[in-house]
Amino acid sequence: MKLDHVGIAVHSIEAAVRSYQQIGFTLDEIVTIEEQKVRVAVLAADGSRVELLEPAGAGSPIQKYLEKRGEGIHHLCFQVSDLRQKIEELRAASMQLISLPSQTGLEGRKIAFLHPKSAHGALIELVECESQGSVQHSSKS
Ligand code: ZN
Repeated sequence: MKLDHVGIAVHSIEAAVRSYQQIGFTLDEIVTIEEQKVRVAVLAADGSRVELLEPAGAGSPIQKYLEKRGEGIHHLCFQVSDLRQKIEELRAASMQLISLPSQTGLEGRKIAFLHPKSAHGALIELVECESQGSVQHSSKS
């Protein structure tokens, strides 16, 4: 499983983007995911990516995180080739998954979150990535 990105909870995306640009990252885009009440800045450097997460609206899980723990690493995201199969494997192993209002992340990618209780304190995001693994879907039309 390849690391896709690291998610970092921040109070201000604008301030955090400036810091990460100084570290050496380039800003790709800033988007708001209304359903998850989060504003996300995607930055990249040499194939490594970070997502800066700012609360967007009342009851945002990022707001709760910031109140409890302050700014910092919020989650790690790993690529899987078949998300549905992975979820079945995890359920069979009694791993706890977090259900989201939307299972679609940035760029319409399929995502799932594993509860920190099942990963020793780390929130793990899984993203389906077709370029990962041996099965290639050649659906060019
Ligand atoms: Zn993420």
